[in-house]
Amino acid sequence: KEEHIRKPEWLKIKLNTNDNYKGLKKMMREKKLHTVCEEARCPNIHECWAVRKTATFMILGDVCTRACRFCAVKTGLPTELDLQEPERVAESVEQMGLKHVVITAVARDDLKDGGATVFAETVRAIRRRNPFCSIEVLPSDMMGVEENLQTLMDAKPDIMNHNIETVRSLTPRVRARATYDRTLEFLRRAKEMNAAIPTKSSIMIGLGETWEEIIETFDDLRANNVDIVTVGQYLQPTKKHLKVKKYYHPDEFAELRKIALSKGFKHCEAGPLVRSSYHADEQVNAAAKA
Ligand code: SF4
Ligand code: SF4
Repeated sequence: KEEHIRKPEWLKIKLNTNDNYKGLKKMMREKKLHTVCEEARCPNIHECWAVRKTATFMILGDVCTRACRFCAVKTGLPTELDLQEPERVAESVEQMGLKHVVITAVARDDLKDGGATVFAETVRAIRRRNPFCSIEVLPSDMMGVEENLQTLMDAKPDIMNHNIETVRSLTPRVRARATYDRTLEFLRRAKEMNAAIPTKSSIMIGLGETWEEIIETFDDLRANNVDIVTVGQYLQPTKKHLKVKKYYHPDEFAELRKIALSKGFKHCEAGPLVRSSYHADEQVNAAAKA
């Protein structure tokens, strides 16, 4: 029987909610929009929405065609495509007064373009209404089809983010359908298509990887010209999901950040509560300056 590891003190946080936050939640329901911030019950929601003016929208529905073993998003057959969604997201970005927005999507393996067309349209719609808001996209691998990636790159996001999620050896157990090499190839191709757009990737740790494997993953990302990396603690969303094998200490995250920067990443966020979109607003400038 596997032993249960206790959550350390530094992961016990209080959800900070206020009226502003409640108003935004209401707006999301009215506009039928989904945010990762809410769905994943992200502990940073108050800081992000109210203070930093950043949020992560999940488009193309809330049902995913894949079932990764770390992810709390519902799996099944997705609903019809909502062609008005790009405009509603753009309106919400305006109402929230966001300075940086992250757009992610469920994997739509049921669509020929993997959802790339609506994704690209969302970027354009946000840009039209919010010319000063930076836009980061976080797509699935869109089945690894080059044309789909090109469709999204043509919309010129400010950051192209695609998560490697875990080390090579754990990928088949952790991710559904996506492969380690396809992720690297996706990131490399994005850079080849437009070198001016920074690329970014995230790793969750605590799934049973070794320290050396984390460093290897850094090396693999750098070998494919990835500019920004984030490293966060994996937390088990429900009992059905993969168990946490290790809680890394904040000092270990600090050490990983140092190593990442020494490998040539232009920016690295690493910490127990770091999520792919955490402090994403700072990275646009960091990547542009470098
Ligand atoms: Fe949302 Fe990301 Fe901020 Fe969490 S870290 S609240 S998911 S923008
Ligand atoms: Fe979750 Fe993305 Fe995997 Fe779908 S593809 S299950 S949204 S991590």
